[in-house]
Amino acid sequence: MDEKKREKKHISMRTFLVITVFLVILLVTAGTAIGIIVFSGQTARDKLLDETEEHAERLADQIALHRFRIESPENTLAADLDETAFLAGGRILVIDRNYRIVKDTFSFQQESYIVSENIMTVMTGEQERLGWIRNSYAEVMLPIRDSSNQILGVIVSTASTRSIEQQHKIIVRNTLLLSGAVLLVAFLAVSLVARLTVRGLRDMNRKIAHISEGNLDEKLPESGFKETRYLAQNYNAVIAQLADIDSTRQEFVSDVSHELKTPITSMKVLAESLLQNENASTEDYREFMTDIVDEIDRETKIINDLLALVKTDKQNAVMNFAEVDINQLIDVIMRRVTPIAKKRNIELTYESYRSVKAEADEVKLSLVISNLVENAIKYNVDNGWVRITLNADHKYYYIKVADSGVGIPEDAKDKVFERFYRVSKDRSRDTGGTGLGLAIARSSIHAHGGTIKLYSESGKGTTFTVRLPLKQEASEQDTTEDEA
Ligand code: ADP
Repeated sequence: MDEKKREKKHISMRTFLVITVFLVILLVTAGTAIGIIVFSGQTARDKLLDETEEHAERLADQIALHRFRIESPENTLAADLDETAFLAGGRILVIDRNYRIVKDTFSFQQESYIVSENIMTVMTGEQERLGWIRNSYAEVMLPIRDSSNQILGVIVSTASTRSIEQQHKIIVRNTLLLSGAVLLVAFLAVSLVARLTVRGLRDMNRKIAHISEGNLDEKLPESGFKETRYLAQNYNAVIAQLADIDSTRQEFVSDVSHELKTPITSMKVLAESLLQNENASTEDYREFMTDIVDEIDRETKIINDLLALVKTDKQNAVMNFAEVDINQLIDVIMRRVTPIAKKRNIELTYESYRSVKAEADEVKLSLVISNLVENAIKYNVDNGWVRITLNADHKYYYIKVADSGVGIPEDAKDKVFERFYRVSKDRSRDTGGTGLGLAIARSSIHAHGGTIKLYSESGKGTTFTVRLPLKQEASEQDTTEDEA
C-alpha cells in the first residue's frame, strides 16, 4: 500500500521527458507565431503608408505641373484624384497656399478653408512630410512643390487599412493553424522518442525482477543505448561477482569440512585398529594414543587458525592499535624460534637498520611475523639460513624475511595466500601446516593498511616483504598493491 503511494509520488521518466521537451517546443512555437504575427502586421502597415505616400507624391507632381487647375477639362487630374482615393478606400484633399481646399474627393469641404497645425508645418516647410496610421486609416501629408522647389500647397491623402487587416487576419489564421500542426507533430514525436528511450530501461527492469526471483544464472542483454548497455554490463559484473562469492563460500565450507574430517578419520582408523587387535599391548595403546593426541592437536590448530582467520578478516577485524616497539617484538620472536632453527642447523639472523616504533595491533602483528619466520624455517633445507631485516622511511616500515629454502613455484605464487592452499600437501602436513597461516597473515596486514609481496625462486629460496604504515591514518590504508 505504502509502496504504491510512493510509486504514485514519483513521476515517470517518460512523462518527465514528454512534459519538459513539449513545453520547450510549445514556448518556441508560440514565440515564433507571435513574432510572425506582430512582424507581418507592422510590415503591412509600413507598406500601406509607403504606397499612400507614393501615390500622393505622384499626384502632387501632377497638381504642380497643372498649376492647381484640377477641374480643368484639359487634364484628367480630378478623375485621377477621385480614382486614387476610391481605390485606396480613402479621401484626398488638395490645399493651396491660402489654406483653401481646392479639391476634396468627398466634396464635403470643397472650397472651404482649413487650418490645422499639421498642415501648417508641412505648408511652411517645417516638416518635409507627415504620415501615420490612426482610426483604421493611413494618413499622409506632403507639400506640393513647383520646379523651383517652392511650396504651392499641401496634399492630404488617406487610405483605409481594411485590406491589410483582412490580409493580416489570414496570416494570423494560417500561423495559428501551422503552429497547431507543429505542436501536434512535436507531441507525437516526443512521445515516441520518450517511449523508445525508456523502453530499454523498462525491459531491463523486467529482466532484473525475473533474475531477482532466483534466476541468477541469467544475464541482462547488453544492447540498446550506450547508457543502458553500460548499466547492463555493470549489473552483469555484479551478478558474476555475487556468483563468485557464492562459489568461494561453498568451496571454503567444503575445504573446511574436508580439513576437519582428515584428523577425525585418522583418529577413527587408529582407534579401530586398536579395537580390532585383541592382543594389543600397553605399548601399542601408548603409541596409538600418542598418534591420536597428535591428531587432536592438529584438529585444534585448524580450528584455532580458522577462528584467527575470521577475526582478522578485514570486515570483522577488531584492531587494538597501540604504539609497539617493532625491534623488541622481533627480538622476542627470534628468541622463541631460535631453538626450532637450531634443530636443523639453520642460521637465523636479524638486522635492524633503525629503531622502529609504530602504531599496530601487537598480537596480530606478532602472529604475522612469527608465521613468516616459522615458514622460512619449515620450508628450508637443513644447514640453510633465514634473514630478517627491519627498515623504515618517514611513512612506512618494512619487514623482510628471506630464506634459502625450497622456494615457491611460479604457478603457486598467487595461491599461497589462499585459505588451505599448500604447495606440497604431504610436506606441509609433516610440518604441521594447515594452509591458513599466510591467509591470516595477509588479512592482518590489510587490516593494518599494509601490503605483502613475495619473491621466490624454486629451489633457491623465498623472500616476503611486508610494508606497514607507521601511523594508522585512514589515508594510509592501502591494500591494493599486493603482488605475488
Ligand atoms: P602452512 O600452514 O601450510 O605453512 P601457509 O599459509 O603458511 O600454510 O603457507 C602456504 C603454503 O605456502 C605452504 O604450504 C608452503 O607450501 C608455501 N610456503 C609458505 N612460506 C614458504 C617459504 N618461506 N618457502 C617455501 N614455501 C613456502
